Amino acid sequence: MAGIYYHIPFCRQKCYYCNFYVLASNKYKDVYADALLREMELRKNYIENQRVDTLYFGGGTPSSLPVKDIVKILNKTHKLFDVNPEAEITLEANPEDLTPEYLQELKKYTPVNRFSIGIQSFFDDDLEYLHRNHDGAKARLVLENAKKAGFNNLNMDLIYGIPTLTTEKWNKNLEIFFSYDIPHLSSYALTVEPKTTLEVLINQEKRENTDDGQQAQHFEILLEKTGNKGYVHYEISNFAKPGHYSKHNSIYWMGGHYLGLGPSAHSFNGTSRQWNVHNMKQYIESDAVDKIVLEKEILTPEQRYNEYVMTSLRTNWGCDIEHIRNGLGQKYVDHFLKQVQKPIENEMVVQKGSTFLITHKGKFFSDGIASDLFIVT
Ligand code: SF4
Repeated sequence: MAGIYYHIPFCRQKCYYCNFYVLASNKYKDVYADALLREMELRKNYIENQRVDTLYFGGGTPSSLPVKDIVKILNKTHKLFDVNPEAEITLEANPEDLTPEYLQELKKYTPVNRFSIGIQSFFDDDLEYLHRNHDGAKARLVLENAKKAGFNNLNMDLIYGIPTLTTEKWNKNLEIFFSYDIPHLSSYALTVEPKTTLEVLINQEKRENTDDGQQAQHFEILLEKTGNKGYVHYEISNFAKPGHYSKHNSIYWMGGHYLGLGPSAHSFNGTSRQWNVHNMKQYIESDAVDKIVLEKEILTPEQRYNEYVMTSLRTNWGCDIEHIRNGLGQKYVDHFLKQVQKPIENEMVVQKGSTFLITHKGKFFSDGIASDLFIVT
């Protein structure tokens, strides 16, 4: 199973918490699709002849691209790759772009069959704290528009642990989410990333800081409410009705192969990981792979072990020591079994056959638990 990711780095404004490579300008938008096509041609052999099961437009704001460009990108993809006719094709979208006209055009001219909508909150003061470009009314309207246009395979993003988001409001956000009968939810704690505007504003005491206690409480509510409504908590930040797991993200979590196109995109083909340049001008002007790909890394067995432990423990499939034994050898299994004893004693991890899973108690601490199991290189 392999996937292709297209990074669409345009946003109307930069959200204060964002640390992705994005441009709050349309300067290169007209020539961007052609640059992606060029890169696709240059790097088409990276995932060799594998069948492509997922296509994912992420960002940035992919819904800021005109439909004709999305059509162009998809046509070229189908020409160059063996794309599964049943492929999951996701487009990330921001509420301000999903007008009825845009949705109808997408429906008519593209095979996009899944939307991921960055709602984050239905309350204006939270959206203002985050410096999002939409308000709560727009967030609701866009969900109605998407459903009217016949898009039911939707994901909504919601952020919890925003200092302005009281417990009552968090409960309300979840209630509104449930009322739209959307099959997938991605929900993340607000993280203050280094060098973001949010970090600067917090340091200047112009924005309140996040609070671990509040975030843990919101996370508990999230687990309880989604569980009661029949959503499976299949990855630490992802919840889905049965049959609606994100196939594309599952490729990342299960160690599958993917080609990432566009500035700052990264790719993985089992042996090498590659990162593209973080510079739009350079990207647009590049006419050779070694000008596009900034860094290439052949993963060591220790890195492969650490990555597998980190990603697998975040999922409800868990970390399977048979997978480690077959892919890396007994030495790595021995290390894992030695290190995992403490989290088991602390009831943070449980063993089921050859698989180790994070318990309910451990879920909020999954990244820390995984890093205690790493091999330090
Ligand atoms: S819309 Fe998304 S990608 Fe764009 S600035 Fe906001 S968080 Fe970043």
